[in-house]
Amino acid sequence: MATDPVCNMQVDENKAAGHADYNGKTYYFCSNGCEKKFEENPSQYAENAA
Ligand SMILES: [Zn+2]
Repeated sequence: MATDPVCNMQVDENKAAGHADYNGKTYYFCSNGCEKKFEENPSQYAENAA
């Protein structure tokens, strides 16, 4: 499982609605909306995902 950095939901990597690579890390999202938010401001959300 991975943590969606936008809404902090647990996301199954295999069932994620989307993913994005940022700073050499891959982030997974529960929905396209979360993916969009992340892409608009990746540095803000990447910090949440530690
Ligand atoms: Zn989400």
